[in-house]
Amino acid sequence: MSEVLVLVEHVEGQIKKVTLELLTLARKLGAPSAVWTGPGYSAEAKAKLAEHGAEKIYVADSADITDYVVAPKVDLLAQLVSSASPAAVLVAATAEAKEIAGRLAVRTDSGVLTDVVGIEEGLVADQSIFGGGVNVRARVTKGLPIIAVRPNASPVEAAAGAGAEEQVSVAVSEASKAARVVERVKEEKGARPELTEAAIVVSGGRGVGSAENFSLIEKLADSLGAAVGASRAATDAGWYPHQFQVGQTGKTVSPQLYIAAGISGAIQHRAGMQTAKTIVAVNKDPEAPIFELADFGVVGDLNQVVPQLTEEIAKRK
Ligand code: FAD
Repeated sequence: MSEVLVLVEHVEGQIKKVTLELLTLARKLGAPSAVWTGPGYSAEAKAKLAEHGAEKIYVADSADITDYVVAPKVDLLAQLVSSASPAAVLVAATAEAKEIAGRLAVRTDSGVLTDVVGIEEGLVADQSIFGGGVNVRARVTKGLPIIAVRPNASPVEAAAGAGAEEQVSVAVSEASKAARVVERVKEEKGARPELTEAAIVVSGGRGVGSAENFSLIEKLADSLGAAVGASRAATDAGWYPHQFQVGQTGKTVSPQLYIAAGISGAIQHRAGMQTAKTIVAVNKDPEAPIFELADFGVVGDLNQVVPQLTEEIAKRK
């Protein structure tokens, strides 16, 4: 069975959930080989990757590889593609990994598919395009399929893999040293899950009315263990920080549940959330376009509906 390379996403050694989703997907396509980059590799990380089906783990844990921006990871993957001849390379559809995927595709003269929300046998991918407006089925027909899959698009299933570890080193070329990371700043995100990874997202829009009133959205999010998002109208008004903006010029989320409160459902907002599995809208205007997209809708004032919802959820815990 051919190897399927999976680029591991981790923060200081803590493996992100999307990697486990990719390993689960990779098992349908071949023998998953996890590719670890940068410091932080541990026995715990190894066990987690193996528990989710990694037959092999390529470990390139020198600091060199993360000291420079993106390029050394491309060098490493290109090296592994040449030595392992994998059936496919899977990465998460994050900004960084999509750049890696694109560069690797150029380097290996291959096709790349981004924003994939599912892969079937024969490496046929469901791809969300035109800002999420259209879903297409696509297959790479030239070279090696390089596929960037959205977080939360597929389930995590445990299955033991051999987890055979292989240390790899990569000579970082002068060209790859052109852009260096000078500082890393930890994002202040408190106890909430990361927006693009969260299984539940509660977002507020202009209808929330003020920065103070975003506490209603936060309380609902906390009752559900969710991340908080915002429309551009809310971030532009300074009610919520820009890094939480969902949409075409913000983050793309694909949670199991997306609750939109006081958001009209403009095309640019939809672009970032319409692949959510279940969408719930709270809006006082029954004609708001968000209701065309929503699986469940509440027509009402969010100042009344959201606290009641929070209270009800708290009661059921
Ligand atoms: P509005 O459209 O003003 O809607 C507010 C809604 O709240 C209304 O439907 C109203 O009925 C409802 N409401 C009001 N009060 C209450 C209440 N008390 N209770 C319940 N409901 C209430 N937008 C994004 O979100 N993300 C992007 O990434 C993004 N990128 C863009 C890129 C470009 C190039 C452009 C041109 C625009 C972009 N926009 C983006 C902006 C987008 O077009 C919309 O203007 C924006 O999404 C509107 O935000 P909103 O739904 O919060 O506000």
